[in-house]
Amino acid sequence: MTTSEFVKKIFFVEILKGLGLTFKHMVNPAITRQYPQEKREPVPGSRGLHALVRNPETGREKCVGCGLCAAMCPSQCIHIYTSEGDDHKKVVDRYEIEVLRCVFCAFCVEACPFGAVVLTEHFEYSGYTREEFYYTKERLLENWDKFMTGDKGKIYFERFWRPKSEDFGAQPVVRAEERAEK
Ligand code: SF4
Ligand code: SF4
Repeated sequence: MTTSEFVKKIFFVEILKGLGLTFKHMVNPAITRQYPQEKREPVPGSRGLHALVRNPETGREKCVGCGLCAAMCPSQCIHIYTSEGDDHKKVVDRYEIEVLRCVFCAFCVEACPFGAVVLTEHFEYSGYTREEFYYTKERLLENWDKFMTGDKGKIYFERFWRPKSEDFGAQPVVRAEERAEK
C-alpha cells in the first residue's frame, strides 16, 4: 500500500468525498422534465429513426445497393433488393428496415461507403402494428426530407460519420493536380 493510499484510508477520504457528492445533490434542484409537456432540444447525432439520404442532384436515394450496411447489421434487419438498370448499373428496387428489430448501433451508418444512410434525431414515434415500423425506401427517403432539413445532413456527416481516414492515421487524400504543384 502506498503512503497516499494509507492516508486516504486513515482519514476516510473516499467516504467523505462520497458524502460531499450526496449533500451537493440534496441542495441542488431536481432536473426532472415533465415530458411530453417539457421537451429538450434535439441532440445532434442522436440515434433516432433511420433515413436514406436523398441525392440533391438526382432527387433519388444515394444508396447504390452494395449491401454493406445489411452485412454489418447485427440484427439483420436491413433488406435490400436490387436489379440491373438500362445502363447496366445496379438499381435499388427496395430498401427496407425492420425498425422493431434494430438496436440503433449505427453500424449501418459506419459501414456505408457512400454516406447514404443515417440515424436522425427523431425518436418520438409509435404505432399499433408491426407494419408501421417496417420502413420502406420511400418512407426512409421521406424521413430524410422531414428530419434532416437544411444543413443538418452535412453537419451529421462532418461530425458523426465514422470511420474517417484520421481514425487509421492515414495520410489525407491529395489530388493529382495538388501533387503536381508540389
Ligand atoms: S442501427 Fe444497427 S441494428 Fe439498426 S439497422 Fe443499423 S446496423 Fe442494423
Ligand atoms: S446504404 Fe450504403 S452500404 Fe447500404 S446498400 Fe446503400 S450504399 Fe451500400
